[in-house]
Amino acid sequence: MALDDITARIRAAEAAHGRAAGSVTLIAVSKVQPLDRVQAVLAAGHRVFGENYVQETARKWPALRAQFPGVSVHMIGPLQTNKAKQALDLFDAIHTVDRPSLADKLARLIQARGAAPELFVQVNTGAEPQKAGILPADADAFVASCRALDLPLQGLMCIPPEDADPAPHFAMLAQIAARNGLPGLSMGMSSDFETAIAHGATHVRVGSAIFGARVYA
Ligand SMILES: *Cc1c(COP(=O)(O)O)cnc(C)c1O
Repeated sequence: MALDDITARIRAAEAAHGRAAGSVTLIAVSKVQPLDRVQAVLAAGHRVFGENYVQETARKWPALRAQFPGVSVHMIGPLQTNKAKQALDLFDAIHTVDRPSLADKLARLIQARGAAPELFVQVNTGAEPQKAGILPADADAFVASCRALDLPLQGLMCIPPEDADPAPHFAMLAQIAARNGLPGLSMGMSSDFETAIAHGATHVRVGSAIFGARVYA
């Protein structure tokens, strides 16, 4: 299946760029995909998935988790502050910490629970007005403010502009992470995950190349 092909390409990119075998986590992005396709990827043994919507995840994943032990689900879409609590119930990682109000809310909720998901700060590397994320110039200060809130940050995430060469964006994200001592880099999608691995990605988010094109209702 396509999953095996993508996994093989990830392993090859790791080897080609001096990365340890298995150092890149494949997040299979299952948003909007028919349940049978998701179940097929689970049945093939894959356990790490990405979703963009809290409501869709709440409908879909509790039953799949019961059926397939060891699943982890990563939130990769914009998160409304008023859904933060529900998100902590549903997700093992949140890649879209993108503003102070969300960081504050997550910090309070995480303190109350005594457990945190893996957290990534989304950086708007292209400074696109319509896109979520902290501007590159504000990233260091935002990381510091998250740490002041005791938010355990794993790394940074970006979505490069659609029609641009992604490589400079991946390089910029890696640079910001390195100078802030953050080990995680969530970057690379179906069309550019090998380039992202060349630039140090630790998590690639691949949807359509695994499941086929998304059909929105
Ligand atoms: C949908 C989505 C993906 C997957 O995109 P593909 O091009 O289908 O691989 C990755 N990252 C984010 C943030 C997404 O919203």
